Amino acid sequence: QWAYLDGQFQPLLDTKISVLDRGFLFGDGIYEVVPVYNRQLFEWPAHYARLERSLALTQISNPLSQQAWLDLLNELIERHPWPNQFIYLQITRGVQTPRDHLPAAHLTPTLLAYTNPLPAINKTNIGRGIAAITHPDLRWQHCDIKAITLLANVIAKKSAQNAQAQDALLVRQNGLVTEGSASNMFLIKDGTIHTPPLNEFILPGITRQVVEKLGTRHHVGFVERDIQESELATADELWLASSTKEIIPIVTLNHQPVGNGQAGPLWSKMFDLYQDYKREYKQDY
Ligand code: PLP
Repeated sequence: QWAYLDGQFQPLLDTKISVLDRGFLFGDGIYEVVPVYNRQLFEWPAHYARLERSLALTQISNPLSQQAWLDLLNELIERHPWPNQFIYLQITRGVQTPRDHLPAAHLTPTLLAYTNPLPAINKTNIGRGIAAITHPDLRWQHCDIKAITLLANVIAKKSAQNAQAQDALLVRQNGLVTEGSASNMFLIKDGTIHTPPLNEFILPGITRQVVEKLGTRHHVGFVERDIQESELATADELWLASSTKEIIPIVTLNHQPVGNGQAGPLWSKMFDLYQDYKREYKQDY
């Protein structure tokens, strides 16, 4: 398994960064996760747009041109045998000493990329659904940046495990549900998909974007609106969605059944539409 670090491919397990890297010392960096299906990048233009936006909002310079990014990712895919993969990219502001919150001028960003096998998705397994809990959203006010500082997400995930659940729905102090610990959330009521609007409290998920596109294309109502924690108990279905997990039904929330306690019909439909979309997706860049 290979990693790309600062211009070179090297064995992943031997790949090391400096202890002076601002990513390590300050969490001063951003990342992306890009799925690969049938050895082709999936939705790369959308992932790249979000990467550029994360870099712009953190004022970290983009170390590569768009073509150089594509060449790097394609080489990474080629170096590995797996048909389906997920590529992890991380860019930090770079190495700096002495320690200073203020970034030095003209740092060279650190670029790490490596890939992992993406397990095959099986509808029967995913259709069993997951248990989730609600958990306070302990994060900051720029959740729209895909920042590497994930401590609040990790705490939420750990709390879910402590409660014999697999994930957490995050709730802000104002009572609004934002997203999962590493996914966007959807509430289904009377055949319509509801999801929180894009703002600084959620990550603009690429899977969310595809769900919206498929909903619109297939005449399923898709509404972006604030969702109150109190509405969760009356949902017909609840889903989480992300690039690596795709679309997962939540079947119990805080140990109570969601709907009838089984994956719902709209989940089943959206799951199938998503598989068709993946199968037909053609990389033309
Ligand atoms: N929200 C958060 C907090 C995430 O970490 C992720 C992905 O890891 C998502 C949403 C879903 O984003 P995407 O669909 O682009 O994977």
